[in-house]
Amino acid sequence: MNRRMRKVKIVATLGPASNDYDMIRALFEAGADVFRLNMSHGDHSEIRVRHQIIRQIEKDLGRPICILADLQGPKLRVGVFANEEEELEVGAPFRLDLDDAKGDATRVQLPHKEIFAALEPGSSLLVNDGKIRLKVKDCGADYANCEVVVGGTISNRKGVNVPDVVLPLAALSDKDRKDLEFVCQLGVDWLALSFVQRAEDVQEARELADGRAAILSKIEKPAAVKAFDEILAVSDGIMVARGDLGVELPVQNVPPIQKRLIRHCRKVAKPVIVATQMLESMIDSPMPTRAEVSDVATAIYEGTDAIMLSAESAAGSFPIEAVTTMNNVAIEVESDPNYLDIIAGQRGGQKTTVADGIVVAAREIAETTNIKAICCFTQSGTTALLVSRERPHVPIIALTPLVGTARRLALSWGTHCVVTPGEVERFKMAVVGAARAARDDGFATEDDQIVVTAGVPFNQPGTTNILRVAPCAERLIYSADPD
Ligand code: PGA
Ligand code: MN
Repeated sequence: MNRRMRKVKIVATLGPASNDYDMIRALFEAGADVFRLNMSHGDHSEIRVRHQIIRQIEKDLGRPICILADLQGPKLRVGVFANEEEELEVGAPFRLDLDDAKGDATRVQLPHKEIFAALEPGSSLLVNDGKIRLKVKDCGADYANCEVVVGGTISNRKGVNVPDVVLPLAALSDKDRKDLEFVCQLGVDWLALSFVQRAEDVQEARELADGRAAILSKIEKPAAVKAFDEILAVSDGIMVARGDLGVELPVQNVPPIQKRLIRHCRKVAKPVIVATQMLESMIDSPMPTRAEVSDVATAIYEGTDAIMLSAESAAGSFPIEAVTTMNNVAIEVESDPNYLDIIAGQRGGQKTTVADGIVVAAREIAETTNIKAICCFTQSGTTALLVSRERPHVPIIALTPLVGTARRLALSWGTHCVVTPGEVERFKMAVVGAARAARDDGFATEDDQIVVTAGVPFNQPGTTNILRVAPCAERLIYSADPD
């Protein structure tokens, strides 16, 4: 079957548990629409091999597949310890400094001098996914004397989060710049930016990418939550990165932020991914917990474009089961009348263009009568994003001559992307192509009707100005359509 039976998209992170052709193909067949290459792990040669495999599968199956490369960003880490690890006791003093001597129970290196400049007495430092909490007592240009507020085991190169400070860090490290250039040359569809703090961070990456990939900002810092409107305005998509967000903020703040970000992204027709710990227990178990199933369902009910697997598919023992679980939950939620109500209730957003009006009309017509699909011709992908924002009950077929547009759109809610052979020159040919795609991919039969949107003159972005209800049978298109 060439089509999905659900609208929400599934992102699967690749890693040691999913790095060969058979496994990646099985993940795609189980329902993964987007593959995430995590630049924090794996060297360039491994990334290159995974990339090649995905493009091969795309060719073998004849479906566009989206690749998202996730840049590590300015992730802070402590240095190393003489004894590999130390136990930090509550109330004890602990010092961070720039000295590269091995650490002990009283101090360790924090090799980021910018951090010391930004710290103030009272600032919190979180180590090892927030398990250890330090409070700064006094600090200078090259040290911070802290008190242990929550103790635990600290070990070599553990990650450090500094939630309440906007760090004077470049958004892209030297490694990120090299990784960005590498993946752009390989050819990826989306670049995810970690630890974005301000809109300028996004602009910098956008300039470097220079149109070679769309830009997705990961919201995982309190500063990014505060500056969300500005960040969204300069991003093509968003990830609710709940892992780090739940370390940097109290965990109970994450669900309302998730809800707000999803709604906001939909209003401006940009895709949003809900990520991290969605099926965490499936790293080691073939069955999810009830709470995890509920979490996945909640994100879908809320209208997210995509849900993501991290370690579940990258390093777990049950990657295929995890994708299958998401697929099954999605099918169930999306057939619930409550889902349709919730999704319809959140329709809205600014509408100013002809295309905005046409996609609303397309949805209304499709839902008024027994129409099987909304087929939209799109160059840049914008019209397809607008149809997706409408969250129509019927399937969306996005037709484009540009494979890059098709791949990028594969992240967006409900879009079944089809690459048209060559550019469309006559409207009748567009309708014939749309009807053929709808029939071939199992959305409609000869007896059905579809809605087609397109723009004249053809093959120019931003021209959507035609809406047509058309039969699916070719002979009827030819006899009904004068041109
Ligand atoms: P990560 O990002 O997996 O790269 O850390 C996602 C998150 O923080 O949730
Ligand atoms: Mn993160």
